[in-house]
Amino acid sequence: MALWQRLRMSWSTFECALLQAFGLQRRLVPALVIEAPVNFPHSEAESHDGDQSESPSFLDSIFWMAAPKKRRTIEVNRCRRRDIRKLEKVKNNIEVCQVCGRLKLKHVLCAFCYQKVVHETALIRAQIQAQEGRPHNTPPVESIILYAGEKAAEADVGKRIIERNRKRPAWFTVDS
Ligand code: ZN
Repeated sequence: MALWQRLRMSWSTFECALLQAFGLQRRLVPALVIEAPVNFPHSEAESHDGDQSESPSFLDSIFWMAAPKKRRTIEVNRCRRRDIRKLEKVKNNIEVCQVCGRLKLKHVLCAFCYQKVVHETALIRAQIQAQEGRPHNTPPVESIILYAGEKAAEADVGKRIIERNRKRPAWFTVDS
């Protein structure tokens, strides 16, 4: 027997006793009200003898997660967010690049100048590809890069010479 049936029977017995004791009419007696969810979870016995395609309990559809027990005040939150350890550190190791004048970290290559080197190196590699017409290899002789208006020295005879049809960049110094 289900719980609500037992409650109903016991309340009926109690209602009859009240009516006999005070001689009241039936409708004046307060009714028993139980507040319960719409999808009240059924017991195991009731759920198994019914159809199996019953919708799951409403408790299964709730995503349970941890919730804070106490509210933190805005002062506490701001003290945590603006903590001295979370501030950005002041850098004192910054200097001016001697070549281009941009700011850079000390003991570190200038990023702008390095990009120029990367770009020029890619062009030199393309020139090697155009001159030799084969995949890059590492010849046993030294490579000499001649820019516009330059001529190979006598000491460079026998070395691999790559000619570039542009003026030599100021930062690309000749290693002598
Ligand atoms: Zn620079």
